[in-house]
Amino acid sequence: MSLRFNAISNLLSEEVNIECSKKITAIFGENVFTQKVAQQFLSDEAFKSLNSSIKSGQKIDRSMANQIANGIRSWAESKGVTHFTHWFQPLTGATAEKHDSFFTIKSDGTPIEQFDGNALIQQEPDASSFPSGGLRVTFEARGYTAWDPSSPAFIMEIGQGGTLCIPTIFISYTGESLDYKAPLLKAIEALDKAAVDVCNYFDKNITKVYATLGWEQEYFVIDEGLYNARPDLLLCGRTVFGHAPAKGQQLEDHYFGSIPERVYAFMRDYEEEAYKLGIPLRTRHNEVAPAQFECAPIYEEANLAVDHNTLLMDIMNRVAKRHNLHVLLHEKPFAGINGSGKHNNWSMATDTGVNLLTPGKTPKTNLMFLTFFVNAIKAVHDYADVMRASIASAQNDYRLGANEAPPAIISVFIGQYLAKVLNDIKSRVTDKMDETDESMLKIDIHKSIPELLLDNTDRNRTSPFAFTGNKFEFRAVGSSANCASAMTILNVIMAETLKQFKKDADALIENGEKKEIAIMHVIREYFVSSEKILFEGDGYSEAWEKEAEKRGLPNVKTTPLALDALVTAKARALFKNNNVYTEEELEARHEIGLEKYIKKVQIESRIMGELATSHILPAAIRYQNILANNIKGLKEAGLEEAAFANQKQILEKISEHINSLGDLVEKMIGARKVCNKIDDIRTKAIAYCSQVKESYFDKVRYHVDKLELLVDDREWYLPKYREMLFLR
Ligand code: ADP
Ligand code: MG
Repeated sequence: MSLRFNAISNLLSEEVNIECSKKITAIFGENVFTQKVAQQFLSDEAFKSLNSSIKSGQKIDRSMANQIANGIRSWAESKGVTHFTHWFQPLTGATAEKHDSFFTIKSDGTPIEQFDGNALIQQEPDASSFPSGGLRVTFEARGYTAWDPSSPAFIMEIGQGGTLCIPTIFISYTGESLDYKAPLLKAIEALDKAAVDVCNYFDKNITKVYATLGWEQEYFVIDEGLYNARPDLLLCGRTVFGHAPAKGQQLEDHYFGSIPERVYAFMRDYEEEAYKLGIPLRTRHNEVAPAQFECAPIYEEANLAVDHNTLLMDIMNRVAKRHNLHVLLHEKPFAGINGSGKHNNWSMATDTGVNLLTPGKTPKTNLMFLTFFVNAIKAVHDYADVMRASIASAQNDYRLGANEAPPAIISVFIGQYLAKVLNDIKSRVTDKMDETDESMLKIDIHKSIPELLLDNTDRNRTSPFAFTGNKFEFRAVGSSANCASAMTILNVIMAETLKQFKKDADALIENGEKKEIAIMHVIREYFVSSEKILFEGDGYSEAWEKEAEKRGLPNVKTTPLALDALVTAKARALFKNNNVYTEEELEARHEIGLEKYIKKVQIESRIMGELATSHILPAAIRYQNILANNIKGLKEAGLEEAAFANQKQILEKISEHINSLGDLVEKMIGARKVCNKIDDIRTKAIAYCSQVKESYFDKVRYHVDKLELLVDDREWYLPKYREMLFLR
């Protein structure tokens, strides 16, 4: 029996087991080395040192490191942990760990458990197997992981026993970053400095500004048996073939429906793991597509939120196995069915407890809100191409612009009310300073808050970057992406824009202009110069594509070209000015992005070829034989042509598809060979995109999907869309 039918019969006998879990507050953070735990396990001195380095982002005092490491070990051992690992996020996209035990043998032969400061602060995983984009060419492929005290240590319980995980960044010996986190931390720091400077116009007590992130994770869940019977899912995370089911998502009944029991049990289970690790999950629900779901936490400081998201993706994968389920984090696992995104809700918060994107209650705080609000719009306007690059991947290309996802055009939605406020400022603040109407400073946004909320509940779901009341929501981020990529860019472009804002406002103030009036003028100027990025209409429509083109907004649909934005003169200056990437690091990132793209397309193309020749064609040929024999038999029995006209018609169609498919697969292999000979990596990526993917994928698929409808169901080995999407 084929894997497909085996999986279906196993699935139908699957038992659902929902254990009653504990109260969330009773388990929340129990596997995290929180401040409270630190206080218990560390001396006053060590605790203070840890705290100050968390706050300042400074390196931990070496002399304190031993004490802190010992404290962390005692805590971990009290929970039965024997191993530790530096946990990091290399550019492969997965998290990486290398486990070591506390166990060691002293020079006199005594076995002891030990975890010293050095092991806490630094480790050396073999860097050669991680992408480094040519950085290794100049020197040996060595890198080290360094402790990031701003994200607390935690115990990962899944698998054999618990492992103490130390969140780290991953850098080369000459200091280049090799992961997602090192640049993120730098961007967050740049934003902090730039934002505090601007905040101090309004409030001298503000000394720190945090970027905040609340992500919404979309994903599909399918039965593991069915998953295993689909080599394409197994190897590229998406189905390269599959005819649309008779019923898709037209009825939208899944969105409003209750969560299926088996999936519900899985959710409860992974949520419990997440709570123990301090991941503050808040919501879970069905998504629009069948078998698609979403979860979202309460927002947190951006660096921690990024760690929590990567950790959660890992946990979901592991926990799903216990339930004989599989999580698909790919942006577009099923053609013709909604893809998955990961909305990044982003804002900034001060150490005085103010959300800088919440409209204020007084004219003064309104002005602070408007300042940050307009700077964000300008940042996106000026660096829309870099934002597009930050979310570019082979997977996301299947989703962006696929008329149910944000388009590849970056635009900003702010809602009618705020658009009106900004337009008022535009018309009422005149260019000549002395004519400025001081009453303009008293824009009373707060009086209209109910209106504002109304406007936002009715908000535009088609915008890639939308203001939603007290935060911006970056919706074009892909579901499998590491949020650090988008967050690094967002924070650095905001930092750069705020720095310029400060210069511009200071220049007017030095000219003798009153502070508030100077600020209002710069706000006006920024709004006017970036207005064209604002769009309130249907972002999925063709009309918008045309309109955007008229406005001169970039609309780059494919990853190899989108990545160009990382290495323009403008981008180089941006990253250098804010100490996020050096030239070399930028080149490396660009190259890694292209390399990843090529590999993804290459693997998809190979799996298409392999499935076509070893699964699809044999099934089609077997059925072709049955039909041919049938016709032959009927003919021999002396029946008229009309008696087997139908069989003949099917046979003709099948034969046509078999020939075309075989032919296309050969040609696609040829195209790959041509691409592989190209040396320049950018040219090669572009060629893979146009000569392999765009030239063949849809065509090959067309014939396979037609055959799926024609060939006897019993002969078809690959689980069908209806089975993967509707059986559970
Ligand atoms: P939806 O977009 O599904 O309607 P919401 O807009 O209510 O959901 O919230 C989505 C996410 O926004 C949540 O994860 C929430 O934590 C996050 N969020 C709310 N406020 C902020 C903020 N100030 N900064 C960052 N994220 C935030
Ligand atoms: Mg949302």
